Amino acid sequence: MKTGVLVGIDLGGTNVRVGAVNLQGDVLAWAEAPIEASRGPQVGLARIGALIEQVLGTVGMVMPLAIGMGATGPIDRQRGSIQNPYTLPTWEDVPVVQLLQERFGVPVALENDADAAALGEAWVGAGRDHERVLMVTVGTGIGTAFVYRGEIYRGIEGAHPEAGHIVVDPRGPLCYCGAHGCWESLASGPAIARRAQSLARDTSTLMVELAQGNLEAIDARVVVAAAQAGDVLAQQIIEETAFYLGLGMVNLMIAYLPDVVILGGGVMRAYPVFAPYIHQVIQQHSVVAPLQSVRLVMARLGGQAGVVGAAYAASKLIVEG
Ligand code: ADP
Ligand code: MG
Ligand code: ZN
Repeated sequence: MKTGVLVGIDLGGTNVRVGAVNLQGDVLAWAEAPIEASRGPQVGLARIGALIEQVLGTVGMVMPLAIGMGATGPIDRQRGSIQNPYTLPTWEDVPVVQLLQERFGVPVALENDADAAALGEAWVGAGRDHERVLMVTVGTGIGTAFVYRGEIYRGIEGAHPEAGHIVVDPRGPLCYCGAHGCWESLASGPAIARRAQSLARDTSTLMVELAQGNLEAIDARVVVAAAQAGDVLAQQIIEETAFYLGLGMVNLMIAYLPDVVILGGGVMRAYPVFAPYIHQVIQQHSVVAPLQSVRLVMARLGGQAGVVGAAYAASKLIVEG
C-alpha cells in the first residue's frame, strides 16, 4: 500500500484551510488563515504555500504525494485556474495548478469548493453509504454539488452548476452576477450580516452590543448569538433567512430527490437555529414528491469536508498517474 500524505486545500472567500490527509481520509494536521483576497493573489498564494509547509512539517514530511484544492468558483478546471473576482476580489485569472506544481513538484487537482466538500462527505462522511448526495454549503456564498454513485455531476464543458444563483425572489437584492434575489444574495453569511446591519441602524438590539457598538462588526455569528439570547430582531432575521434557505433547498430537493442533503459551511454551524423554519418550508412543498423521505444532515466532517474532498481529488491523480 502506498504511504505518504495528500495535501487538501479549501479556499473560501473568507478563509483558507489546509490539511495533511492520509489515503484513508484522516486529517493528520491542520492549518488555516484568513485569505484577505483583496490584497492580491500573490499574497494569498504565499500564505497558502506557508500553510502547506506548516502541515507537512507537523507530520514530518517534505513532500506530499499530491495536492488538491477546492476553490470558491468560478474556476476553470481545464486550465487549472481561478477566475473569481466576485468572492475573491482581484483573483481574475490565477493559474493555481501551475503555480503550486512549480513550487511543490507534485500533481495538483483543482475542484470547485462545493464539489470538494461533497466529495469529502461522500468519501468518508455523511454521504458515505448513499447513492445520491446533494451537498449545500452556506458560507460567504452558497455552493451546491451533486454526487451520484460516487461521481461528481458535471455540467456542459465540465462546468460546475451554480445553484447559489437560483433566483428565489425576483424582487430581491441585486446579486454580483447581475440577477436579483439569487439564493446566495438572500441567505449566505454576508447576506445575513447585511440585513442585520441595515435593520440594527434604527432599532435597539442586542446585536449592536455584541458587536461592541460597531454596526459593521455585526456578522452572521453575532445574529445567531443574539437570536439565541432572545433578541427579537435577530430572531426575525434568522426566521427570514431560514425561509430563503428552505426555499432554495426545496427547489433542489424537488429537482434531484437525493437520498440525503448534507449541510456544510460556516453558517450551517448554526443549523439547529434555522432548522425548525427550514423544515416548515419543506413540509409545505412535500405534496408532489416524497421529500419527507429525504434526510437533512449536517456535514459529518464539519469544517473539514472541503479539505478532505480536495485531498480525495488529489488522490485520483496518483492512482491514475
Ligand atoms: P468560506 O468558505 O466562504 O470562507 P465559511 O464556510 O468559513 O466561508 O463561512 C463563513 C461565513 O459563515 C461568514 O459569513 C461567517 O459570519 C459565518 N459563520 C461562521 N461561523 C458561524 C456560526 N457559528 N454561526 C453562524 N454563522 C457563522
Ligand atoms: Mg467554503
Ligand atoms: Zn447571483
